[in-house]
Amino acid sequence: MRERDYIRYLRGFQNKPKEVLVGIGDDAAVIKLPRKDLYVLTTDMLLEGTHFCLKGGRDTLQRAPTSKCTIADVGRKAMACNISDVAAMGCRATLALVAISFPVFTKMGLARRLFQSMRQTALEYGVSIIGGDTISGKGPLCICITLLGRAEGLRPVTRSGARPGDAILVTGSLGGSILGSHLSFQPRMREALYLNKNYNLHSMIDISDGLSLDLGHILEESNVGALLLEGDIPVSRDARRLSRKTGLSPLHHALTDGEDYELLFTLDPREAERFLKKNPLRVPVTLIGYIRREKGLFLQSADGKLSKIRPQGYEHR
Ligand SMILES: [Mg+2]
Repeated sequence: MRERDYIRYLRGFQNKPKEVLVGIGDDAAVIKLPRKDLYVLTTDMLLEGTHFCLKGGRDTLQRAPTSKCTIADVGRKAMACNISDVAAMGCRATLALVAISFPVFTKMGLARRLFQSMRQTALEYGVSIIGGDTISGKGPLCICITLLGRAEGLRPVTRSGARPGDAILVTGSLGGSILGSHLSFQPRMREALYLNKNYNLHSMIDISDGLSLDLGHILEESNVGALLLEGDIPVSRDARRLSRKTGLSPLHHALTDGEDYELLFTLDPREAERFLKKNPLRVPVTLIGYIRREKGLFLQSADGKLSKIRPQGYEHR
């Protein structure tokens, strides 16, 4: 594949919203944004062998991080992970730059399928790809997406605002993502925008590393602790299915698997009650515990027993 041909191909699919004055094809994109708003910027990298293994591809790692996937899966996931990060700030994803390093001898067909799946996912969420870079080299396939998000007059929600007494809520159900949802998940952008618009969220994160580890990030940044109610954690059907294979409990999978890309957030318990009374979102939302002044993460079992849990989950090495 010749890069020149690929870029010509990409230009044909450019969709240029009105805030983009110059898109793909120049040295840099030019954008014009409303001055009064706030913007969030995020970048996320996916590396073959570390974050995904392609079907029929070389398996250079001793330990496959996830099940094997197609190039379309990879494109979708690369875009969706970034959108999920913008969602976790309570903002709307808008413009993307895509940088790709292809292994030498990559065929045009594969490169096109990768782009089409990124573009399709972007379109579903109202994101426009307005530039980037492609190279080829001796390394594995590497995709790096930089995404701009808009706060739309709202306050971006950080990890550092959790307060003692806050209710801890989570969307969807957790665990067992390796059985498929780590590729097919829906970034919770609409949900995050709705929540940020209608409720005073104190802190929020998307679950990429696992419930206990990502909650740990909130606790650390907010300088607080938490108590989780064991019986209330929404354990997914896949967590149960996986537990039959691994011998670990479904709860363990829900706490540590990661790549759920659900929203984990905290707010005043009265606000939480108001929301839970009539959750208008299309996804279930569950109250799973409370923020405490006392440091550390504790799990309370049905009989009231407390055990300390060490934040753990999937960390890329
Ligand atoms: Mg994140």
